[in-house]
Amino acid sequence: MNAAGNHGLRGKLLIDEPMSKHTSWRLGGPADRYYIPADLADLQAYLAALDEGTGVLWVGLGSNLLVRDGGIRGQVIAPLNALKELRLEEGGGVYCECGVSCARLARFCHQQELAGADFFAGIPGTVGGALAMNAGAFGGETWTAVECAIMIDRRGELIERARNEFDIGYRRVRMPREEWFAAARFRFPPRADGEDSNIRQLLRQRNQSQPIGLPSCGSVFKNPPGKHAAQLIEAAGLKGYGLGTARVSDKHANFIISNDDTVASDVEALIEYIRKTVAERFDVRLETEVRIVGEER
Ligand SMILES: Cc1cc2nc3c(=O)[nH]c(=O)nc-3n(C[C@H](O)[C@H](O)[C@H](O)COP(=O)(O)OP(=O)(O)OC[C@H]3O[C@@H](n4cnc5c(N)ncnc54)[C@H](O)[C@@H]3O)c2cc1C
Repeated sequence: MNAAGNHGLRGKLLIDEPMSKHTSWRLGGPADRYYIPADLADLQAYLAALDEGTGVLWVGLGSNLLVRDGGIRGQVIAPLNALKELRLEEGGGVYCECGVSCARLARFCHQQELAGADFFAGIPGTVGGALAMNAGAFGGETWTAVECAIMIDRRGELIERARNEFDIGYRRVRMPREEWFAAARFRFPPRADGEDSNIRQLLRQRNQSQPIGLPSCGSVFKNPPGKHAAQLIEAAGLKGYGLGTARVSDKHANFIISNDDTVASDVEALIEYIRKTVAERFDVRLETEVRIVGEER
């Protein structure tokens, strides 16, 4: 791959970039190559020049990623604040590129007097990450309002796909292979007369129940059908439990907290320990919501 050479590329290519700088757990070894595109056209050119065999991983705000200590072989694409177009379209749709933060989308919809986007305010990720995860909170879910997604493939081609082309579930979206979310078109209903935003109230509720401000990746495990992962972990006696340098939050048992000395292998070992303990105690197999990527050291 010689895109580092230039090819008229306008973005920023970083070599051996520590992923600990780009994940909310502040963990993870280096990525071989980390590209911050200048804009969508620049990213199209970059992907078109990429060697076919190079693995590609997209990273938004890294708020749902455990990157292992050996880091990432291959190419990271980092669209945060780079693919940042957000606009109201004729006809009332909202066009939003994947590097826009969820908080900005929530504020924008509030300003445009649209309803149904308040829940995005507390999700500390990008819209691309929210689309990939079908992120949700307080009864809202990302894909509820998606009309279509604008995908980019590894040749840099853009493909518009309607919502019904995706298999969507709880914190899960099946995407076509080697395609990623460049942008999406949302349709939010207009805010009803007298209806006010409840962004502040939702953020307050989060602060009360979650260890906001400490390095975490939010909920580590998905809720099993009809159950709450946090309740199962707490009932297994693991709230506040530490393993190596990682520990289960004593405020919310589905959060794992790291500190300056934490290594990703300790977090992964704690995840496995929780899974094993809950399975033994309650015969429930917890599935991770967090995506674990990269190589062991
Ligand atoms: C304190 C805290 C609270 C949280 N609360 C919630 C919550 O209430 N609800 C919730 O759902 N989540 C929550 N999360 C988890 C996380 O914020 C969400 O999953 C979020 O959607 C991840 O977005 P991101 O941009 O950080 O994605 P990343 O963590 O960077 O990536 C997550 C996955 O998405 C993929 N991805 C990222 N961008 C793209 C793209 N453009 N195209 C294709 N794939 C892509 C990545 O490859 C990876 O597989 C919380 C996390 C924290 C730290």
